[in-house]
Amino acid sequence: MANVVWHKKLRILLDLTRDDLDHPGLPDLWETVYRTDRFYGRLGVPVGERDLQCGGVCRDMGVEAPMHLRMRGGRREAVHERREDEERHTAPMSDEHKAYQERILRAAQEGGFSGDSEVRTRVGRSWIQTDTLVEGADGRRIGWEVQLSTIDQSGLRGVRARAVKADKNGITPAWHTDRAAYAQRNDAHWTRSDQLPAHVIARNGDLRIVSGFRVLDFWHCDTRALYPCPHGVRRCGKAHATPKPRDVLFDDMVRQTAAGAIVPIHFRAGSTVHRYWVTSTDRDRLEDLHGDDTRLPPEREAAPAAGASRNRPTCQPSSAPITVGTPPSPPALTALPVHEQAQTTESDPTAEEQQKPHTEQTTDGTTGLPSELITLQQAADQAHLQLQQLHDHHDREVQRQVWREAAATAQRAVTHYARTKRLNRYEVEARLRQFVRHTAR
Ligand SMILES: [Zn+2]
Ligand SMILES: [Zn+2]
Repeated sequence: MANVVWHKKLRILLDLTRDDLDHPGLPDLWETVYRTDRFYGRLGVPVGERDLQCGGVCRDMGVEAPMHLRMRGGRREAVHERREDEERHTAPMSDEHKAYQERILRAAQEGGFSGDSEVRTRVGRSWIQTDTLVEGADGRRIGWEVQLSTIDQSGLRGVRARAVKADKNGITPAWHTDRAAYAQRNDAHWTRSDQLPAHVIARNGDLRIVSGFRVLDFWHCDTRALYPCPHGVRRCGKAHATPKPRDVLFDDMVRQTAAGAIVPIHFRAGSTVHRYWVTSTDRDRLEDLHGDDTRLPPEREAAPAAGASRNRPTCQPSSAPITVGTPPSPPALTALPVHEQAQTTESDPTAEEQQKPHTEQTTDGTTGLPSELITLQQAADQAHLQLQQLHDHHDREVQRQVWREAAATAQRAVTHYARTKRLNRYEVEARLRQFVRHTAR
């Protein structure tokens, strides 16, 4: 028996554990499918020539395993036609899988973290079953799910649903495989190693992750840039990030995800959501890059790396082997001339507020907006641009603060102006940005 059935004609998976077969948009699906299957049966159509196949382990392994449906004690059941298919479901966990579980726990332990295999985490009235759960720093929990090309009980259904459920309940899902086809799926943060026998996986030697981890190359879009502008043919003058695949050692991956030095990110490209792992430093820079001053990235605690100090040196982000190989910053990154306005924005915001009441503002002839607003917005944008050009962690912290303050000052001024003039604040801001970013320079 299996819980998931693949319908060949409809090309959908039917989850028999759910009343609606996991298709809320298709009412009476069970009745239709069940009755059709019974009808075929009465006509003597062989199971292999009907519509249903095993959608669990068999399908994951690329085996077409015919199934038929039945009701037993009021329960819906799907039955394999062939015994060999049924046996695939009761096979014990492979040696390779066990070797991975042990390796994860050992790597975690060497990094000062604890963990356990086959963990059930209570969630309301149900639970989350995790292959191997690592208890990381600051309450971080990494849920490793190993899916190998060898026989596996759990199969590969509902990866996205399982990942989302884990994530919602405080477990960062980390899916690992030795199958290229799995690693290319975008339903979870997959990492992949080469196919290796159990005794190699179990050893202490190097075990590499060959896909799933990226380094982000931050570069400035000018005529010297190595990459084409992602937004068009011309140079846009902004900063961009380009992800590049990079190998990482499996043990380091286990420890650094636990330490929070390697983190999952996702981004949308067209209709696809890409998911991979990056260093927390790259993630922070990416947030800065995509940060807009209407939605500033979350305030960070100072020096987050310090939190990992109770772990062994291998867990500290700075000693990560993945950063050892990082090439020097691309030559394309050049500092832009800093406008004088950038400095003026560091003025005390309260002083700025106090200046407000005495008005007589100069007004920009084109937009009708006060020149002061334009200057403040330019300063905020300039501060953001400068942030994109810095590489040093400390410099970035300082500049991020400068940007935040400049952005906050500009926004306060917009609010004040809109309120005094009884204008729509959003429209004022949109007009201001449009002018500053697309007209003024
Ligand atoms: Zn099966
Ligand atoms: Zn560009």
